[in-house]
Amino acid sequence: QAKRFGGDRIEPFRPAFRAVGSDRLQLESDLRRALERREIHMAYQPIVRLEDNSIAGFEALMRWDHPRRGSIPPSEFIPIAESSGLIVQLGLFAMQRAAEDLVTWQRNLGASPLFVSVNISSGQLIRQDLIDDVRSVLLQTQIDPASLKLELTESLMMENPERSNYVLSSIRAMGVGVSLDDFGTGYSSLSYLTSFPFDMIKIDRSFLKADQPQKVTLLRSMISMAHDLGLSVVTEGIENESDALQLRQMGCEYAQSFMFSPPLTLDVATKLLREQFQQSKAS
Ligand code: C2E
Ligand code: MG
Ligand code: MG
Ligand code: MG
Repeated sequence: QAKRFGGDRIEPFRPAFRAVGSDRLQLESDLRRALERREIHMAYQPIVRLEDNSIAGFEALMRWDHPRRGSIPPSEFIPIAESSGLIVQLGLFAMQRAAEDLVTWQRNLGASPLFVSVNISSGQLIRQDLIDDVRSVLLQTQIDPASLKLELTESLMMENPERSNYVLSSIRAMGVGVSLDDFGTGYSSLSYLTSFPFDMIKIDRSFLKADQPQKVTLLRSMISMAHDLGLSVVTEGIENESDALQLRQMGCEYAQSFMFSPPLTLDVATKLLREQFQQSKAS
């Protein structure tokens, strides 16, 4: 029986709606002020080691608490942030906040080898110098560069492969990790893994669906291919214990899914880490 973390889902249920036309314009203008009004915060979802279910790190996930509409999911506001260019500011906020929170955790909990992983959008990779942003966050927070990871998707890399490769190589050269997110959903050509300097892949949760044909074969070959290339593997969206066991036997290092923990507030994440730290001292 795997250990589960937390229980407090932080998003209330809300019916799906898609912002169109003037509604979208209104949201864009609201988003423009959201940072200064402190409506944006980061949630942290544990990434656990499959060998013992301990927390290895967190993915930082952006949340927007809209004063009238309530919580708006990133699937709705990130596209608006991208098309309006606001993603540059928001993305820098995410990276800064995640790095600052990592400092707090490490200060409270000793120098445990914990990482935070931050999502990067195309606007950040193309319109702004991401390299400078990463460098200044490292300087400001003095975190170990290896404890910061950036997550990028294949479609993002495809928009401008040369630029992406240059930026990612520079970031890797600083010691920061780079993960290929949602692996398997795009073109997934092997050349992405070999020609870009990734050090981790995150297998998309669509592969974990029960009705996914040849699920086990696909997972096994993705994992062994990644390992052959020297990449570590996170499997997203594991739904049951038997898949967790199987993935562990396949040598998959990490898992991230609701089964282990939903995204948590900073406070709940800190509490979990403290418990884990105290347990490890006691044993
Ligand atoms: P992602 O980077 O692939 O993040 C993982 C998403 O899967 C998160 O959704 C997480 O809550 C969800 N998830 C985790 N475990 C499970 C599971 O077991 N089952 C299911 N059904 N879902 C699971 P979230 O937080 O709604 O984020 C959605 C997407 O929005 C992210 O996908 C990412 O592409 C984007 N996003 C979120 N925060 C940021 C950010 O700070 N910057 C940028 N650029 N994009 C972000
Ligand atoms: Mg991600
Ligand atoms: Mg993902
Ligand atoms: Mg995704």
